[in-house]
Amino acid sequence: MTNYENGKSLPSEENLIKLAQALSVPLGFFERESTEPVPIEAASFRKLSKTTSTRRDAVLASASLAVEFFSVIESKFKLPGPAVPSLDKFSPEQAAELVRRRWNLGDRPISNMIHLLESKGVRVAALRHEFVDIDAFCFVRDSVPYVFLNTSRSAERQRFDAAHELGHLVLHSEHDMEPSTSKEREAEANHFAASFLMPRSAILTQSMRSASLERILAARSFWKVSAMAMTHRLHELHLLSDWQYRAICVTLSDQGYRSSEPGGIVPETSQLLRKVMFGSVDKVSLREAANDLALYQDDVRSFIRDLVPVAA
Ligand SMILES: [Zn+2]
Repeated sequence: MTNYENGKSLPSEENLIKLAQALSVPLGFFERESTEPVPIEAASFRKLSKTTSTRRDAVLASASLAVEFFSVIESKFKLPGPAVPSLDKFSPEQAAELVRRRWNLGDRPISNMIHLLESKGVRVAALRHEFVDIDAFCFVRDSVPYVFLNTSRSAERQRFDAAHELGHLVLHSEHDMEPSTSKEREAEANHFAASFLMPRSAILTQSMRSASLERILAARSFWKVSAMAMTHRLHELHLLSDWQYRAICVTLSDQGYRSSEPGGIVPETSQLLRKVMFGSVDKVSLREAANDLALYQDDVRSFIRDLVPVAA
């Protein structure tokens, strides 16, 4: 393997077949131009320390194939240009308010995070299912932001993940993601996500002080966030005391809200991918994309799994 990789020896036809089987790619994969890898520093990994380097490399390799997949789409369709502001001088709360203002979102709940990101030029894809233990991540390539979502999570968690990655793009895209500062940046991206999905000014007008569990559950349905995220936000805005916060967390945990979202919403899907792959005469079919990329259709399908209902 090492000799092939550093180009010192070319594999024989027989070895190529074996290699293709081992990597589960079509033979033609080796004739394609090599892909520019997604650099580690450019990617945000929430659980950087828990991700082994081999798995991280596999995720990044899959991410660079997804970048190529989008360029196949762009050879046929004009996609929205990037419109994510860079606001690294602001606090997460201020930055979230500024992005809402710039995008004319007012104080309303975000109806669909994926549609919103796509309309602002962010390319959204699914993480391959073998990486379910890895959280969402993002990177910028040639000025285009990419967000990869873990579609095995609850709808509310995915929305929070999408907002969290938007936070990285807004606050941190000008900087390399260094492991030494990753903890601080994770907290900033979480704070951005909570502020973006549950804007301070609107929450403060909703009479949520010392809110009951019923009230919190109604509010989480309104804002389309998890009950845990809603409770955390109310505590962050000093609308719940430490004692009230802890008591509600214990109750939510007992009722299964820590690992799932009882009574939750249906996961969001992609408007862009549905349109370009299934919605028009000039569509990019799975087969065509797979041929262009010298990949199996299943590999291409993995980029859009759960994001496009018919491809599930
Ligand atoms: Zn993060």
